[in-house]
Amino acid sequence: MEALLKDKVCVITGGSKGIGRSIVELFARQGGRVYYLSRSEAEEPASLAQAAAAGGGFVKWLSCDVCEEAQVEAAIEAVIKESGVIDALVNNAGVTRDGLVFRMSLADWNTVITTNLTSAFLVSRVAARHMIKRRSGSIVNVSSVVGIMGNGGQTNYAASKAGVIGFTKSLAREVSSRGVRVNAIAPGFIETSMTEKIPAEAKEKMKTTIPLGRTGRPEEVAAAALYLCSELSSYVTGDVLKVDGGMGM
Ligand code: NAP
Repeated sequence: MEALLKDKVCVITGGSKGIGRSIVELFARQGGRVYYLSRSEAEEPASLAQAAAAGGGFVKWLSCDVCEEAQVEAAIEAVIKESGVIDALVNNAGVTRDGLVFRMSLADWNTVITTNLTSAFLVSRVAARHMIKRRSGSIVNVSSVVGIMGNGGQTNYAASKAGVIGFTKSLAREVSSRGVRVNAIAPGFIETSMTEKIPAEAKEKMKTTIPLGRTGRPEEVAAAALYLCSELSSYVTGDVLKVDGGMGM
């Protein structure tokens, strides 16, 4: 099978670790010209370069805090200056600041909403402008099953991820007629640094709520992002694809 993203210019936010890093690696293996935006560079960047070399693409890190409008605009313009186009965008950067609502500070509320939701608006706004001009492009926003189901102790996170779904569907309605598809992925419990803080006992309990009986791997979310960013999903827009072992059904 030919590489699914051969010479496609892809922008991934939060590609330095976890799910984002897996997306960067898979997209590069599939021939993509991948730019990732995060505050720190991925550990072992050589392995990403190797993946890119094997697939005929490349990987480049752009230092960017996705909460900062000026930094986002500068990063996207740098991609356009170097590559001329953006074919695919994955808004993946995200954080948690968990706590019961009565004890949650406004700072923790704002950090989560800004990083998980406002950043998707900031990056999509500038990237979609370029995609619309070419009447081509795919935007994928990383939500969560928690945005669909809710979760005690995560009001800020759940609100941000539900917001991402509303943003996805609304943007899809605005730009699909101009050749740009917009979809969301709702991962369940995926093993990354975000979930490693959860105590082992709580993890075991959570696993009993997953029909497939296990937690997910970052590569399994990356595969969904590849599908939604490639021509394999050419007739899919405004959708929310759950990658959760059946947790949210
Ligand atoms: P992770 O391992 O903690 O990685 C988070 C990524 O986001 C890092 O690359 C981080 O890079 C980046 N990031 C955070 N704040 C940023 C900022 N202000 N500017 C730029 N980049 C920023 O988390 P993960 O588990 O891979 O999560 C990735 C996405 O999947 C998130 O949106 C998360 O909500 C979602 N998700 C995860 C799970 C799960 O179970 N793991 C489930 C559902 C949804 P820097 O720190 O270098 O900036």
